[in-house]
Amino acid sequence: MNNSNNAKVAIVTGASRGIGKAIAFKLGREGYRVVVHYKSSEKAAEEIVESIRAEGGTALLYQANVAHSGEVNAMIQWVIRQWGGIDILVNNSGIMIDRWVEDISDEEWDELIAVNLNSVFYTCRAVIPHFKQKQVGRIINISSQAALTGSAQHAHYAAAKSALLGFSYSLAKELGPYGITVNVVSPGRIVTDMITSRENNRTDEWISQTPLRRLGQPEDVADAVAFLASDQASYITGLNMHVNGGLVMG
Ligand code: NAP
Repeated sequence: MNNSNNAKVAIVTGASRGIGKAIAFKLGREGYRVVVHYKSSEKAAEEIVESIRAEGGTALLYQANVAHSGEVNAMIQWVIRQWGGIDILVNNSGIMIDRWVEDISDEEWDELIAVNLNSVFYTCRAVIPHFKQKQVGRIINISSQAALTGSAQHAHYAAAKSALLGFSYSLAKELGPYGITVNVVSPGRIVTDMITSRENNRTDEWISQTPLRRLGQPEDVADAVAFLASDQASYITGLNMHVNGGLVMG
């Protein structure tokens, strides 16, 4: 572990729970200085920071609503001031609401697009000048299997997550010449609050549909993110990495 002042800095949005929490732990264990970002789950996020520190890692806590560009800009500038720079940006924050299309209100549509898509534009726009100046940087965006397969009652969610693919591929082309990579990780069904709290939880059916015959764990996604953040992935950009037990291939 290298938690000196030279250690790379990673921001993980939505690190208070689920997949983001596993990513924050994984990167903390791998020696990155980690910004544990949260929106509402303050106590849970504080405990993650404490746990990373207890293992000898370095972590800071930051609260922001990523749907608001002003709060995102403030977060990026704060991290640069605190630690002198940013190396890895993991856009993980997300929400899902079960709704048939005809029942989605304007407000629900706008909120879902704001949290799942606009937020990624805001964080990337804020960090790009810094990455360009350093001529290095990693952006890892968390999409979803739903971006490719669609998902009944989640058209707004799938729309945001597939837009994230086009955004990420375009950004990979824009930023490649500066040595900055942009990749996507698309989880399948991962055991977190996002799926366990749903009324429409069909665990047995989902397992039987999955070639590897299990649901994913947050750590499965964290391992993929850690690889894309690592030096071993320096020639990989514009990839959509499936972490879904074989639900979607190719
Ligand atoms: P989760 O357990 O529900 O956690 C969501 C995280 O997003 C929380 O840390 C939450 O922060 C944060 N968040 C929500 N709204 C926010 C906002 N407005 N501003 C800032 N942060 C916000 O979800 P998860 O399952 O870990 O999902 C993580 C990512 O993976 C999401 O992008 C999701 O779409 C994607 N994904 C998940 C699955 C799955 O099966 N679980 C499958 C495919 C893709 P607070 O708790 O602090 O409010």
